Amino acid sequence: MEDCIFCKIANGEIPTEYVYEDELVAAFNDISPVAPVHILIVPKAHISSALELDDSNKDVVGHIFTVASKLARDKGFAENGFRLVNNCGRDGGQTVQHLHFHLLAGRNLEWPPG
Ligand code: AMP
Ligand code: ZN
Repeated sequence: MEDCIFCKIANGEIPTEYVYEDELVAAFNDISPVAPVHILIVPKAHISSALELDDSNKDVVGHIFTVASKLARDKGFAENGFRLVNNCGRDGGQTVQHLHFHLLAGRNLEWPPG
């Protein structure tokens, strides 16, 4: 989608160092990390938010969870744990209108969130 920053990052229009990539998703470090590990995992196809998921595109979400688990094992934080978060809409705190999951790790994450 034109003028979508995560489309541009995920499709190589904005040069970005990926921590993981395959045909469905790209993962890269958040520009403004809130934890020692703060990776964004995004589908390459434009999906505005979790509200836009349906039977035609939902499989990417399961894939993102498996990519998060792989990254956790590969990067050594599987044992200590992590959080995989999707913010949806205004009250959910979504600021970029392209579906993404925050993979957070490396410190004790508080609950409930703010
Ligand atoms: P959310 O508030 O859930 O929509 O998350 C958007 C996230 O994208 C924030 O954590 C931002 O720091 C991050 N972000 C915005 N622009 C970029 C960028 N160009 N590269 C990496 N992360 C970004
Ligand atoms: Zn997009």
